[in-house]
Amino acid sequence: MITISTFATRDKVPAALEANAKMTISIVNEIISAIPGTQFTSGYRSAAHNKSVGGVPTSYHVKALAADIVPPGGQFQKYKAQISAIVEKYGYELIDESTKKGAAHFHIEPAKKKKMIPVTPSEPVTVVNDPSVRLTDNQQTAGKSAMILTVVGMIAFIVWTETRT
Ligand SMILES: [Zn+2]
Repeated sequence: MITISTFATRDKVPAALEANAKMTISIVNEIISAIPGTQFTSGYRSAAHNKSVGGVPTSYHVKALAADIVPPGGQFQKYKAQISAIVEKYGYELIDESTKKGAAHFHIEPAKKKKMIPVTPSEPVTVVNDPSVRLTDNQQTAGKSAMILTVVGMIAFIVWTETRT
């Protein structure tokens, strides 16, 4: 089992991040309970520590929301589904770094929010409020086309986000 002091592999967890750390620690401990022999290799890192190990500045390790673990005997594929199921209960996800040379591990962190891509028509659609202004047939057709394209775009976007999970 890991504690708040072993979770910070080099620096102490700042008070402001203790709640984050506790959340991540409890998930790691649940994994260790379920799969004895799982090694915890990295948790909270200060910005300086993170930089020294080549971590990206936006890493969840800096926010005390990430942990690296190695299942028993380095049998990554054997335990991947079981560990994923545990972390997903808490809105975390498993990132498989098991092919990383010399530092194979599973990284866990809060699951990314689905990326939003705003749907914008290629040309601005002018809304005419004055009822005395009649759109020409061409303008009406163009307006309908733009609306159809927007709807098709939205459906494509929804399908795209659904298939990403
Ligand atoms: Zn990591």
